[in-house]
Amino acid sequence: MNRRDFFKISTSSIVFTSSQSIFAANEKHYDEYIRDSLSFEYEEISKYVKSQFSLSHKECEMFSKDILNKKPVIARCHDKELLQSISIKLKKSQRLVGYGNFNLLSFDDLLYIGRNYSKIGKFSKDELDYIENIFYTQATEYGFYGKKVTYKLSDKITKKETIKIPHTGHYLYKGEPVDMYKRLRKEIGPSIILTSGVRSVVKQLDLFLYKANKLNGNYSKAAHSLAPPGYSFHGISDFDVGKLGLGYKNFTSSFSKTKEYADLQKLGYISIRYPKNNPFGVRFEPWHIKV
Ligand SMILES: [Zn+2]
Repeated sequence: MNRRDFFKISTSSIVFTSSQSIFAANEKHYDEYIRDSLSFEYEEISKYVKSQFSLSHKECEMFSKDILNKKPVIARCHDKELLQSISIKLKKSQRLVGYGNFNLLSFDDLLYIGRNYSKIGKFSKDELDYIENIFYTQATEYGFYGKKVTYKLSDKITKKETIKIPHTGHYLYKGEPVDMYKRLRKEIGPSIILTSGVRSVVKQLDLFLYKANKLNGNYSKAAHSLAPPGYSFHGISDFDVGKLGLGYKNFTSSFSKTKEYADLQKLGYISIRYPKNNPFGVRFEPWHIKV
């Protein structure tokens, strides 16, 4: 089935009808997750996710002990199987519904997909417990001190509240976020572009688990570069911008050296959510616009 048609027949509360994944050739690598989700076949997704966790169980135990001795970091080697099986289901769901639609996917939609598509598979009780545990864990345990902005795992974002931004695969909330984006594009020019907008709890869960898996189960390290699900302002207002053509480097300090970033600084109405040495435990994110 064409992923464009997926939500037309879904019984889910969100009905997506517009086409998806319309990226211009040079916009393909806006974030590192696009390649992972869209360029792989279903079986390759499993292999890829598993290959990201580079330590054996024994190595992982030693690694986490080493870290735990230094500071209160949570590294969960024994969770590897669950972390990966959930991550694989999330990535496959993204593949199924399309990159753009996945940004708005609710938890109920995700469960629906699991139940109805054998390629993805129903979420097991252990997987669901694990997801709940991740969502309801106080982020301060990971060393993340930002506030919680989405309180329920089942909270939904309706498509009506958002506007799809052409050629980006992303959405912005109507009102201030979209007005701010339009204004800064008008004032800086077309070389500044949206790299991530509205993200549902599911999308944030996907990003967070993906990162944690890549970091051998180290949730604290993951939380340093990404808000845990429920704590991301992408869920309610904020968005990320980058320089056209800079690719994944838009999510590194390279962005702070661009003319686009310098221009952003000159606009009086723009501020960055996570500046250098912020009190939230988050790395410097020059690309993340506070709304
Ligand atoms: Zn961001």
